[in-house]
Amino acid sequence: MREVIMGYQGEMSLKGLNRNQFESALIKILRYRLKTVGRFRIYCAQSTFYMEPEEEGIDMDLAFERVSKVFGLAAVSRSVVCEKDFDTICRTAEEYLGESLRGIRTFKVEARRADKTYPMTSPELMRELGAYLLDKHNYLRVDVHQPQFKVVVEIRDHGAYIHGPKTPGEGGLPVGTSGRALNMLSGGIDSPVAAYRMAKRGLALDHIHFASPPYTSERAKLKVKALAQLASVYTGSCNLFVVPYTRPQEYIRDNAPAVLFTVLMRRSMMRIASAIAKKQGCEALITGESLAQVASQTVKAIQCTDAAQDLPVLRPLVGTDKTEIIETARHINTFETSILPYEDCCTIFTPPHPKIRPELAEILEAEAGMPGLAALEAEAAEQAERIRIRIDDAVDFE
Ligand code: ATP
Ligand code: MG
Repeated sequence: MREVIMGYQGEMSLKGLNRNQFESALIKILRYRLKTVGRFRIYCAQSTFYMEPEEEGIDMDLAFERVSKVFGLAAVSRSVVCEKDFDTICRTAEEYLGESLRGIRTFKVEARRADKTYPMTSPELMRELGAYLLDKHNYLRVDVHQPQFKVVVEIRDHGAYIHGPKTPGEGGLPVGTSGRALNMLSGGIDSPVAAYRMAKRGLALDHIHFASPPYTSERAKLKVKALAQLASVYTGSCNLFVVPYTRPQEYIRDNAPAVLFTVLMRRSMMRIASAIAKKQGCEALITGESLAQVASQTVKAIQCTDAAQDLPVLRPLVGTDKTEIIETARHINTFETSILPYEDCCTIFTPPHPKIRPELAEILEAEAGMPGLAALEAEAAEQAERIRIRIDDAVDFE
């Protein structure tokens, strides 16, 4: 039996004129994702993406798992292709799906004809194939409304495609079709989820991480690298910029009111991120902030951080509860790594009672008292280390 993977478009199909662009972007991504699994012929016809193995011995489970994580596909299925004559269709359906029909009580057959020259109509196909399968599994009953299993036959130009129920895909839009952004990645739970959510809306992204050795360790940095690696299954290959942030951070600690420290530090990080983003062709910043989660995430504090630089700051988690964020973190497999206890530079030097409603005026005044900060920020940006995160690399951290 010749098995293929089929991917079905979601929101992309609403894109009208741009649709071709979306389709070719997605084909490119699918090619890239399957490159190390085996040789596939990949194309799009009638809003469906076909991934057909071109060699023997391909691990189809792995291929299917990879494809299911590609943004832009609302659903995916594995099917077999056979000749379009009715007898072959019946035999193939039984051979491929017969096992799934055992141990259940109700099923139905669904038929679609993209090839309108086919001699049987869809209702005929449904009825006849249904009868054939009922004959093989006489304990079964047809339930057209809520069947336990669905056998689908699609008559297409180059063959009959037979499959069971579709599996939901990730949805969203192909990565890269919405531009590029720089994600601020800490070692926490939230920021990998933020990256996932924005990649889902079609943003290609790089990550930036601020490290403050010796206050933060090499292990903490490796943890962040592991998170970027885990998220790359969804975001695609990317860069992780690690900024040596110790000197600006100490300077702020030593030269500004302690109650304003966190907001001043966050503004400083935003300025450095903005400079690196622009150099990399990123058009926005992303953070994992969620409204009122901590003192630096109040509306007032957000106003102050937003005013630090001019790129738009995307906060996909702003209206999300921690429990929902954790659910997504588990879904994308970053949660277990995120909760490993390593220090983050955001939590060192933090005052016991940060100001919850900082005014921009007092923040600007505090910055006026730090004439040496800009040079330290420029130096930190200059010295950022670039780590390549490749989608096919293994995660080496535990
Ligand atoms: P997270 O779980 O993502 O660490 P958090 O709830 O701990 O978030 P904060 O520590 O206030 O919240 O950080 C808010 C956001 O700022 C993070 O989601 C992340 O986008 C960014 N951020 C925090 N620390 C760093 C860092 N060391 N490097 C880069 N970005 C950071
Ligand atoms: Mg954090």
